[in-house]
Amino acid sequence: MSKKPLQVLIIDDSPADQEICCQFLREHAEYDYTFLCASSGKSGIELCQSAQPDCVLVDYLLPDLDGIAFLAALGADLSALPFPIIMLTGYGNEMLVAEAMRAGVADYLPKDVLSAKSLGRAITNAMEKHRLWRALEEQRRLLWRSNAELRRRNEEICTFYHMLSHELKTPLTAAREFVAIVIDGLAGPINETQREYLGIAKESCDQMTLGLNDLLDVARLDTGKLHLDPKRTEIATVVERAVAMMAPMAEKAGIALTAQVESSLPDLMMDARRMVQVLTNLIGNALKYTASGGWVTVRVTLLPPEQDGVLVAVSDPGRGIAPEQHARIFERLYQARAEDDVFEGGLGLGLYICREVVKLHRGEIWVESTPGQGSTFFFTLPLYGVSMMSESKEEGISV
Ligand code: ADP
Repeated sequence: MSKKPLQVLIIDDSPADQEICCQFLREHAEYDYTFLCASSGKSGIELCQSAQPDCVLVDYLLPDLDGIAFLAALGADLSALPFPIIMLTGYGNEMLVAEAMRAGVADYLPKDVLSAKSLGRAITNAMEKHRLWRALEEQRRLLWRSNAELRRRNEEICTFYHMLSHELKTPLTAAREFVAIVIDGLAGPINETQREYLGIAKESCDQMTLGLNDLLDVARLDTGKLHLDPKRTEIATVVERAVAMMAPMAEKAGIALTAQVESSLPDLMMDARRMVQVLTNLIGNALKYTASGGWVTVRVTLLPPEQDGVLVAVSDPGRGIAPEQHARIFERLYQARAEDDVFEGGLGLGLYICREVVKLHRGEIWVESTPGQGSTFFFTLPLYGVSMMSESKEEGISV
């Protein structure tokens, strides 16, 4: 089998040492060697650039440069060089060579143990190491490029559905308002059947608005533009507001919706609008998966002193969630559907938004549930979470 050609540049101010290296390498069977020699750092660097050798052997101590200065003069990124570098050292230079290894040389060889075998093996290893390193670098570069491309496309998609949601919301709001005007009799008298049908149309508009709002929020989360507006707030007020908003849905579903808030809880710094959104989402789900005649409760209690916060729990005796889905239901777009499910609406974004909003408040959210017996969604809000947030607000609170 013919040997592979390999051009080695030897940089050493001692002609005798240059000659020994050449002799040793001629004995090495793996490559068909040709040699270039330089006796100073400066001329070595010039040859590295002009002759593009396959491998460089360089003495640590050169008359004009030491090993580290030589490497620095070659460029900051040794991995980008088209050849590996092996450093030859005199007795006692081992500490300095460790620095050269960190800077990226492929190997080093003390001159006092130099032999045909050790030098040949060092060249073989250095060439292989360099080949693997270059392949790895190439993969890293490709990965970086495809990551950047994916990020760009993701941003494009986010911007698109952000714009789309906005574009759809305006005519939808107008449609809903006109339907409401007709229902209220402001455009003339209507009969009961017309009122009923228009009521359904209005509900559909509301459903679509909720979906579009979720899409807008996810676009904001994905682009780091969902900012909180934290203010000192009584948690009881937030719970009351959420329960009042969901009461009509509960009544229609024949489910008793109640709230128990521990008395004398401290005020918390929070974005009340976002916290109402979290609660209405959780209550909405609880109502959705609980049969008529059931109940849904919201409970707020103070956590033990060492945990410094409040615990909010939304419970239902509904269909429950299988243990393997407990973590997954908080993922974006995840919906746990049973085969006999009637489509209940929703995009699988609600719990994802809840998790991100709670995280922005420095809290945690989780579920405890037994299939067939019901679920309790818990989330915590730290007492001092938002004072920390206020401090970091200048940088923008976002995910
Ligand atoms: P969506 O309600 O749009 O499907 P969510 O993110 O709000 O999306 O919920 C994800 C999934 O978690 C739902 O599809 C449902 O299977 C499950 N889930 C959420 N809340 C409950 C609950 N209270 N009881 C049973 N399953 C629930």
